[in-house]
Amino acid sequence: MARDLLLDETPLVRNCGQLCSAACCQGSDTEGMLLFPGEEELYENCSFGRVLTPGYSIGPFQARLFVCNGTCEREQRPLACRLFPLFPKVRDGAVQVVMDPRARPVCPLCRSGLSGLRGSFVDAVRAASTALVQNRPALAYLEALTDEIWL
Ligand code: SF4
Ligand code: SF4
Repeated sequence: MARDLLLDETPLVRNCGQLCSAACCQGSDTEGMLLFPGEEELYENCSFGRVLTPGYSIGPFQARLFVCNGTCEREQRPLACRLFPLFPKVRDGAVQVVMDPRARPVCPLCRSGLSGLRGSFVDAVRAASTALVQNRPALAYLEALTDEIWL
């Protein structure tokens, strides 16, 4: 559901990857995007990336990191890639869509904040975030990840 809501949405009308040479897709063998609970099984036998277990936990969840080769089909992107550079910050069960602080060193769009992003993208991230917090594991994961990011 949340993944579907973000299937065709992009942060800008134009391809923002041209601004930064797709900086957020230039990971390494050990850097990648954290998968949401339940996403791991979607990436078994994946042709463009693999799932690593980095050995730490996000709350009750063993972290799963998706490491890719830098290109993918839009419909196969992990949820974290679809949300980027935004993040559903969850405190006391309430969700607020904010710029992801982890994006700051990477993404030039962070300078202009939410108001600089395409409105339909921000709306879709808000809708996806609302859908996510209806799901118990996703809510628990987002609460724990919020605590990790905003120590
Ligand atoms: S780093 Fe930011 S501007 Fe660059 S491709 Fe990713 S989301 Fe777009
Ligand atoms: S899965 Fe796709 S969108 Fe996500 S980092 Fe890799 S190439 Fe970029």
